[in-house]
Amino acid sequence: MLPAVPRPIVQKLSQRYIAGPELEDAREAVRRVNSEGKLATIDVLGEEITNEDDAAGIVRAYRDVLADIQSNALDSGISVKLTALGLKLGYGVCRANLRTVVEDAASRGNFVRIDMEDSSTTDDTLRLYRELRESGHDNVGVVLQALLRRTLDDIAALADLRPSVRLCKGIYLEPAHLAFQSFDEVRASYVRALEALLETSSHTAIATHDEWLVDEGRRMVAERGLTSEHYEFQMLLGVRPALEDRLVGEGHRLRIYIPFGRHWYEYSLRRLQENPRIAGYIAADTLGRLVGRRNGA
Ligand SMILES: Cc1cc2nc3c(=O)[nH]c(=O)nc-3n(C[C@H](O)[C@H](O)[C@H](O)COP(=O)(O)OP(=O)(O)OC[C@H]3O[C@@H](n4cnc5c(N)ncnc54)[C@H](O)[C@@H]3O)c2cc1C
Repeated sequence: MLPAVPRPIVQKLSQRYIAGPELEDAREAVRRVNSEGKLATIDVLGEEITNEDDAAGIVRAYRDVLADIQSNALDSGISVKLTALGLKLGYGVCRANLRTVVEDAASRGNFVRIDMEDSSTTDDTLRLYRELRESGHDNVGVVLQALLRRTLDDIAALADLRPSVRLCKGIYLEPAHLAFQSFDEVRASYVRALEALLETSSHTAIATHDEWLVDEGRRMVAERGLTSEHYEFQMLLGVRPALEDRLVGEGHRLRIYIPFGRHWYEYSLRRLQENPRIAGYIAADTLGRLVGRRNGA
């Protein structure tokens, strides 16, 4: 864990995970991945909102992103976090904001992925997804987390919607009664969930950098004779570029998750916490600065 890493160090280490603070930064990152034969999904970083004006600001930011994607003919959707759209302020606030974003996206032929946050939001997120789909919005997908014990049940409960689902391991720390705790249990759960999704969902996004799971995904889609209409791989910007290129070279669809915005610190810290090698980088960075200082630099 990295409890209180100084912002300048986090900023330096996280440059590869974040497009930058502005929309133009995201546009350039999408252009770059598109030119490499990869699709994108843009995330406006904004997890710290505390009032309805902040949430409305996030809605405006997403509408700007959708307009920008269209006017620049970029191959990108968007990913939204319901807490950024006001979920903690009220279910109704969030529903109205999400609907605005989804309808704007639909009018531009675009797609909205609802990210999944910690387990206190799972029920509301799935309920909102169902409401949207049942009211005729098909340009929206959801995320399920393999670490949660409930996920197979959620897949069964969603099956009547033929949902579009991104499957990830899940990044939030959850208690043992809700979530598998060991690496192997989460992997095994991922495989079970992926098998179930490939049977029931209309489209499955296999979101992982775990090479073993990527191989399992490749095997499963090949065995079922699935095409890019039915599945794609997804990875976060900057994490495994070599693996990205390998999948694209093999002809798989691959989408890169591209975060941008001024709320970069919290997102970056989560990414850094995931990667044990980062502790070494921080030590080297700190040591380097100490040595530099001693040398009068
Ligand atoms: C496109 C996408 C969308 C996501 N959306 C959500 C979401 O909505 N909700 C949610 O809870 N989680 C989401 N996640 C995060 C996910 O849950 C995991 O926390 C994260 O992807 C790490 O799990 P992994 O499957 O890559 O496996 P891991 O076993 O964690 O990682 C596999 C390997 O990838 C490499 N790696 C992983 N992370 C890093 C890193 N930061 N830097 C360098 N190398 C790294 C390491 O070499 C590691 O050995 C998303 C992930 C992706 C790829």
